[in-house]
Amino acid sequence: MAGIYIHIPFCKKACHYCNFHFSTSLHRKADFLKALHAEIHAAAHYHPYLNAQPAETLYLGGGTPSLLTFSELESLFELLHEKFSFVKNSEITMEANPDDINPDALKSWKQLGINRLSIGTQSFFEDDLKWMNRAHNAVQAEEAIRLAHGMGFDNLNIDLIYGTPTLSDENWMRNLEKARTMGINHLSCYALTVEENTALQHFVKKGKTLPPEEGHQARQFEILQDWAERREWEHYEISNLCTPGHRSRHNSHYWTGKPYAGFGPSAHSFDGFFTRKMGIANNALYIKAWLENIGKPYDIESLTEHQRLNEKIMTGIRLIEGIELTEKERIISNTKLSEKQWNQMIKTKLKCEENGFIELLNNKIILTKKGRLFADAIASWFFL
Ligand code: SF4
Repeated sequence: MAGIYIHIPFCKKACHYCNFHFSTSLHRKADFLKALHAEIHAAAHYHPYLNAQPAETLYLGGGTPSLLTFSELESLFELLHEKFSFVKNSEITMEANPDDINPDALKSWKQLGINRLSIGTQSFFEDDLKWMNRAHNAVQAEEAIRLAHGMGFDNLNIDLIYGTPTLSDENWMRNLEKARTMGINHLSCYALTVEENTALQHFVKKGKTLPPEEGHQARQFEILQDWAERREWEHYEISNLCTPGHRSRHNSHYWTGKPYAGFGPSAHSFDGFFTRKMGIANNALYIKAWLENIGKPYDIESLTEHQRLNEKIMTGIRLIEGIELTEKERIISNTKLSEKQWNQMIKTKLKCEENGFIELLNNKIILTKKGRLFADAIASWFFL
């Protein structure tokens, strides 16, 4: 079943490390919303698979969707329900920043049927939040979770960042424990990376801040793995952990190759086979394309069998279930391999096994704890 993603491209403040598509100027918010409505109206043409089956998940991300007012969200939800059908127990997630979370906002989100919040916490420590240039402080980071629980939001994810120069190993462990003891049931934990065209990249180049240190990050990832094991959390994807039964259904669509439709600038869509669409990552051009019919709203990419297979390897190997390698049929994730490809695959597999990076379980290649430290590199060794 399909998932629907809506990208809200506005933020109060630019976090130093972030390279997502967003603008800190809100003056075109009303035009953007009109354009977004126009895009959703045209969905039957661009995403025919959406009408074939009810959507299982809806995810409002960004940017900062919690910047939208109740009436803006309400008209968006009305349109979504008019245009698409949803399964009965659909997962409806909204990303919210701690500084936008208050009892009135929570009440209105509940009223709209939002049943999962993903809170951009990043850390519970003031030094880290300042270093990242977050809009919230440490008190708000905790208060947001208390308020959300108080309003009956039991399905809560928080994002945490590790590997920042300000974050000690002790505080990283405290962040994880704080999340657990506050009743969070899902964590998205990302290693700090220096992305192109970010303030962080500029500061690193100018020597104003230290770049992330590989050893520090690897150690904190190991702390995360050990913590998950000890606390019996399911570390079901390299960056995602949950208590049993609380995997993100929406993100699982991305990782398992299910179709999804994205709306909004920079949003991606995938038909579940070989076609990917990328919404234009520019607010002004996005508005022009949808409201004045000037310019292309999407770039379309047709994937080859090879690209598709490599994508399956890239996302599949990050999952706890691993990727399928069935000798009898020479099939990997449902794609038939040639003799040469198969031999190459076996060679790589042996190399990884010898180095303790993978183990084989029921014909699946599964990363070991050591292998998880090098997941992307290992995936690339299997590429064809
Ligand atoms: S709030 Fe989120 S999307 Fe906005 S700049 Fe910060 S990390 Fe990026």
